[in-house]
Amino acid sequence: MPPRPHASQLSFLRSLLFTATLLYALCPTPYALSPKLYAQNPTPYALSPKPFVVMLSMDGYRWDYPEQCHTPNLDRIADRGVKAHSIQSAFPSKTFPNHYTMATGLYPDNHGIVQNSFYDPETSRKYAIRDRDAVEDPSFYGGEPIWVTAEKNGITSASFFWVGSEAPIKGIQPTYWKKYDHNFPFENRIDTVIYWLNLPEEKRPRLVMWYFDEPDGIGHTEGPHGEATFQMVAYLDSLLGVFLDKLEQLPHAHEINVIVTSDHGMGINTPDKHICLKHYIETDWFREIEGWNPNFIFKVKENYYDTAWQALQAIPHVSVWKHGEVPERLNYGRNPRTRDFILVADSAWQVSLTGRHSNSAGAHGYDPFKKDMHAIFYAKGLAFKQGYVHPTFENIHLYPLICEILGIEPAPIDGHIDYVKEMLRP
Ligand code: AMP
Ligand code: ZN
Ligand code: ZN
Repeated sequence: MPPRPHASQLSFLRSLLFTATLLYALCPTPYALSPKLYAQNPTPYALSPKPFVVMLSMDGYRWDYPEQCHTPNLDRIADRGVKAHSIQSAFPSKTFPNHYTMATGLYPDNHGIVQNSFYDPETSRKYAIRDRDAVEDPSFYGGEPIWVTAEKNGITSASFFWVGSEAPIKGIQPTYWKKYDHNFPFENRIDTVIYWLNLPEEKRPRLVMWYFDEPDGIGHTEGPHGEATFQMVAYLDSLLGVFLDKLEQLPHAHEINVIVTSDHGMGINTPDKHICLKHYIETDWFREIEGWNPNFIFKVKENYYDTAWQALQAIPHVSVWKHGEVPERLNYGRNPRTRDFILVADSAWQVSLTGRHSNSAGAHGYDPFKKDMHAIFYAKGLAFKQGYVHPTFENIHLYPLICEILGIEPAPIDGHIDYVKEMLRP
């Protein structure tokens, strides 16, 4: 089991964090070289012949956790580089749709991973995050993930558990990739990424996408204000410090641009705000009901369209839309995989089909314009300005940002470099 903290391990974590902070404070790091390097090179990233991008996603890392916890290593990135006020998810603010949006620059409606699980009417097949065959089947994935664009341009890429990287999309996978293993220790992920970055030049990836499944897990069980959630955030920050220290020892450290971001935030759930769909609808009316708190999509049986629509509309504390009628700002509900009706709970409300809800204290999937669904964005390296704070931006712009840094032509996308280019050095 990976040494991830639980509520009972708080004192251990506190001392670990204290020690890590102390060590960090006492040890000079190669960061001291950076300002000199910047000063020597006025347009460094454009001139750097071989820029690297290493992007870490820490799942469910709400935008304001660093305001509530001690995160010296995120601060370290912000001081040397850039942070955004927040990064806004695409709808639905769930893990798979958003990681694939971050990889492709497309909204979920346009890349096709419209939920963590969905039914594809064109192939009559179901996609689900724990179904190995589905996850590895390229026919589910539209658009062009950044690692495919990179490989097509002769740039070696690597993925450590990024959604979509286990399938040969357009016939291409990252040169280095891993089958998802939830229990693979975070420390070993760090060491593997460092190992990749230390390979001989001809084998070394210049794009690395990697993933931690926390603080999403603890955010669900303990809520976004839970003490254990904050302890996890502090623990992750100490791991980030370990990673940055190792990275900075590499001979080509100055060429590596580091991005630390996340797929969505985390909202509060309480047992008193719970809607049981079965109190309002009959499951017999539907061919399929896909989803999980707080998002569901429905395919209705022909004769029940009006009955089901009226019943769904009568449910309190949720929004329900017909296919094609989701508000424009959500860029959702036109893909055939979103079926007939789309339901999302209001902030803080839980929805379940049967009434057996998970007793979770936190959830996401809600309207991404709500601030609690926003996530973090930090970045440093020669491509980025120093000490700059960028306004909130949508995660569709990450793909063109990476293309710009690597100097490659983006595929047709929803995002645009104009929304993020201010964070880059001129
Ligand atoms: P959710 O909170 O339901 O949106 O999903 C979060 C979960 O997605 C995490 O706990 C991970 O276990 C899982 N997950 C993330 N990336 C992958 C992946 N590439 N393959 C399988 N499961 C993943
Ligand atoms: Zn997530
Ligand atoms: Zn989650």
